[in-house]
Amino acid sequence: MMNKTVIVGVDIGGTTVKIGFLQNSGDIIEKWEIPTNTANSGLSIVDDIWDAISQKAMALSISQAHILGIGVGAPGFIDSKTGYVYEAVNIGWKDVELAEQLSSKSGLPVFVENDANIAVLGENWLGAGKNSEDVIAITLGTGVGGGIIAGGKILNGVNGTAGEIGHITVDPNGYSCNCGRKGCLETLASATGFVRQAMNIIDTNTSSKLAERYRKNGTVTAKDIFELAQQGDMDSRGIITHTAEVIGLAISNLTMTLNPSKVLVGGGVSKAGDQLLEPIKQAFKKYALPRTFEACEVRIAELGNDAGIIGAASLVKNHTAKM
Ligand SMILES: [Zn+2]
Repeated sequence: MMNKTVIVGVDIGGTTVKIGFLQNSGDIIEKWEIPTNTANSGLSIVDDIWDAISQKAMALSISQAHILGIGVGAPGFIDSKTGYVYEAVNIGWKDVELAEQLSSKSGLPVFVENDANIAVLGENWLGAGKNSEDVIAITLGTGVGGGIIAGGKILNGVNGTAGEIGHITVDPNGYSCNCGRKGCLETLASATGFVRQAMNIIDTNTSSKLAERYRKNGTVTAKDIFELAQQGDMDSRGIITHTAEVIGLAISNLTMTLNPSKVLVGGGVSKAGDQLLEPIKQAFKKYALPRTFEACEVRIAELGNDAGIIGAASLVKNHTAKM
């Protein structure tokens, strides 16, 4: 079908693995998803990924010789130099030689990064980052992820925890976090965190709009909160204002260490757009050093779910360009 080289981008998530065949330009030729099989400590995940890639390559008449390499984003703590996953709790992995396994199955070069980091790389390459040298990205999803590009390079730190923005402590006496600590940014600013704050109101004020919504739907979501806020509900507005304040404060602290030109806000919650972005910017302005604030643009991420596979492809592109 084609003579051009193809790059494979893989984004491993807790429920699905997103896979894409991309051109060198980052344009997506084909993308699809397979379920993440977390049974038996995620033992079959690497096989599943390679089976899916090789079947699709065959279906598209792409020969292995035309595949430049495989870039992978995996959740958890990762040694990106070796492609080793120390631990990825939500898919059951502990001490998995991911790059080594996938490379020996495929015969292709494999490069691995943390999933939040590949999303930042993708956004910075083809999305809202516009190839900036210094970027902070925050992903407000089920949890809160983050990634930092400093001087054009993604930061990993000494053992893979750099840019774990979701676990910045914002309230030492706050809610318990999945990481075992208390009051992490994630406990408030994730979709789960928004709902947690709504549930507090629902429990204490049964005549609130939020409680009404909860009774009607049997559940309440972050989307409900933004919707109700738009309709004038003060409780929902209060949740958004408070959370944006916390996020803006965290951003202002982060920017003091990096002095970035961009802060990118992505993830499902960021679909709220300006309704979330504006109060975040206000809080950021309030707390930041003016000079730091002036140089920094806060933007909503643009690539959505494709950021991961695009960033994973950029890993391959960047690494093989050096070879
Ligand atoms: Zn935490």
